[in-house]
Amino acid sequence: MNHQNVDHVENISDVTNTIFLGLGSNLDDPINQIEQAIDSLSAFVQSIRRAPLYRSKPLGPQDQPDFVNTVIQGQTGLAPNDLLDRTQQIETSQGRIKTMHWGPRTIDIDILYFENLRFMSPTLTIPHQEILNRSFVVIPLLDLLPNQMTPTGDRIERNRYDASTLVRIDT
Ligand code: AMP
Repeated sequence: MNHQNVDHVENISDVTNTIFLGLGSNLDDPINQIEQAIDSLSAFVQSIRRAPLYRSKPLGPQDQPDFVNTVIQGQTGLAPNDLLDRTQQIETSQGRIKTMHWGPRTIDIDILYFENLRFMSPTLTIPHQEILNRSFVVIPLLDLLPNQMTPTGDRIERNRYDASTLVRIDT
């Protein structure tokens, strides 16, 4: 994998880049949490396209509510680390308190792709490491990807994912 140096990707505010973000919530009216997060994201992400919403069973502990997940595509002038700062601010402002790993959360925002960038630092890995392991990310992502091709040029085989665990809850 050809990881770029962080200094190389910091100074990009005069251009916009296509990003894909994964959103998930299972507390305090999840659909509303997702809509609220997208509204906040629109301050620094333009031309947002949203995949349908999907309901899914939680990973790990099952004694928590089902999740609602989706993926959005948009354009941002922010550098990757600044984008992470801003998405984490939204998580905090919507009351996300980290309890346990894979535990319930009001809103989780993951940076899935940032153009075709491959980048790794102690706080940020792009593409997000778990994309291909999670149906609740892959299925809405595929709704937005023409030809099932990811921004980093990989083809996702939809039939390798079990979509039966997901219930589409809007169009
Ligand atoms: P979680 O909330 O459990 O998804 O994990 C959040 C942590 O993952 C944050 O502290 C981030 O620093 C880190 N992280 C690493 N890569 C990413 C990414 N692509 N998007 C969001 N968070 C990331």
